[in-house]
Formats: sequence, C-alpha cells, structure tokens
Amino acid sequence: MAERNRLPDELRRFILEAHPVRGHWVRLTDAWHELRGTRQYPPLVEALLGEAATAAVLLAATLKFDGKLTLQLAGNGLVSLLVAQCTHDFRIRATAQHTAQVPADAGFAALIGDGRMVVTIEAGQRGQRYQGIVPLEGASMAACLENYFATSEQLPTRLMLAGDRLQTVGLLVQKLPAASRGEASGAATHDVWEEVQAGLTSLNPAQLLSNDIETLLPMVCGAHDCRLFGATAVGFECSCSRQRVSELLRSLGEAEARDVLAEQGAVTIDCEFCGRSYRFDAVDVEQLFAASPTRDETQRLN
Ligand SMILES: [Zn+2]
Repeated sequence: MAERNRLPDELRRFILEAHPVRGHWVRLTDAWHELRGTRQYPPLVEALLGEAATAAVLLAATLKFDGKLTLQLAGNGLVSLLVAQCTHDFRIRATAQHTAQVPADAGFAALIGDGRMVVTIEAGQRGQRYQGIVPLEGASMAACLENYFATSEQLPTRLMLAGDRLQTVGLLVQKLPAASRGEASGAATHDVWEEVQAGLTSLNPAQLLSNDIETLLPMVCGAHDCRLFGATAVGFECSCSRQRVSELLRSLGEAEARDVLAEQGAVTIDCEFCGRSYRFDAVDVEQLFAASPTRDETQRLN
C-alpha cells in the first residue's frame, strides 16, 4: 500500500462497526512547536501544556459546536493556570502560568494542586456559553478528563496522552449510548467496551508516540471491525490582534495607560498565548483614547 501523505498535525476519527464505541486520535508536531513559540517553560510545565493542547483537540472532536472551546485548569499548585483553546475547525493555542521554580521531580498533584477543570464552549454568532466544571481529581491530566466526561458529559471515556518536545499524541475512546438501530446486545457491547478499555490502558507512552493510528487501532480494538476516517488538519492559530489589544488597553483606562507611558515611554502588551508584542507609543495612546469617548461621556451622551 502506498504511503499516505501525512499531515504534520492531524486528527482521525474511528468507530467500531458493530458497537456504539468511537474514538479520536490526534498527533501534533508543527502546531506543538508553533504554539510554544519562543517561550521557555520548565520541562514539566511544557509537558502539561502539550497534554492540555492535545486534550482540547480531543474534547472539541467529541462535540458538535461552532465556536471556541476552552479547557482551563486552575489550582493552587506550581502551575496556577493552564489554558488551551481549540476552535470547531481545530485551530489551537495554549498558555501556562507557573511559579518561578518548578522542581524537575514534581508530580501531577504538586503541579496542579487543588482546583478545578473548566471546559467552556462559546458557540455561534451570539456567543452562547456552555460551561462544565469538575474538581481536579485524578493522578494525571487524562484522569481528570475522564472524570470530566463521566460527570459532565456522562459518557464513559478513556484517554491517553503522551508527548515530548517533538510531538504530542492523544487517543480517546468513548462508549456511546446504545443506538436504536439493530446493534449488538447491551451485554455484548459491555464486553467489547471492557476489551477496548483494556487495550487502551495496555499501551505505554512510547507506543503511543511511535505508532500511527493504523497500527494502534488493532492494539486497542483487537479483532473488532473498525472504520478509520480520513485526516482532519489541526493547526496553531492565535486570535490576538492589535484591535483586540487596543480594546483591552482602553478597558484598563486612560489614567493607567498614561502612567505607564510616562514611566516607560510606551505601553507594551504581550499576548499571553503566542508571545506577540503589541507596542503603543505616545501617539498611539493619544489616538486610542481620543477615538473613544470614556464610559462617563458615553453615559452622558445616552
Ligand atoms: Zn497571540
């Protein structure tokens, strides 16, 4: 069989032909490199960032929505905030905030601490928000997500995440509610689901990283007939812009902007996701606040 042209960052969906079990697999290479940009994270924080970005893609893949999904982990550990976003068309970005010192042997519990995992979906033109919140319980990012699926989505889900500097990989399997069409009996599906879970948990991170989904599928699904769908491209894209940063600066207020200007000669705001730097000099600040009436004036005009 001819070697298929691989996308650097791709998502694949698969289903079991005879049972209501489905899965998603994602591998990020270029996008993983690009989303880190020039930022230098401690190795453990970087690993967690890769897992979060991969998990956000898997989450987005399991849902039908038109907008943006945000996976956020906020706790009192060494990593105070971890945010990964994925749009419905699989544009991703991610960022992490952490303490100055992150010991190289810190475990997941020390990194994350007590806190919560929040999944927010902003959908449609009117930006409707759906939010699922679960406590950060579990010994890994994957375990926290399994907990999220069990409580918020009520779908039995198992997933595995692995990564290094070059790539991150995620594999998720999910048992769907039995469909009404003449599928196999509930008991048979239960057994198959047990088998698929065992298949997934038998994998180690090195196997996940070094094999293609075509090779992994029989390892997870055994002899059960699987249908593997074509690749969907995933890519890094930051939605920041000078316009959005201007709005942020405006919302901070004129007095504060002028203070910074007087002190530093310019107001510089770095995008926390991609690291892009937006600089506003005296003329820019002047224009920014001249162009928009202050809130007080707006109220008076109304
Ligand atoms: Zn940005």
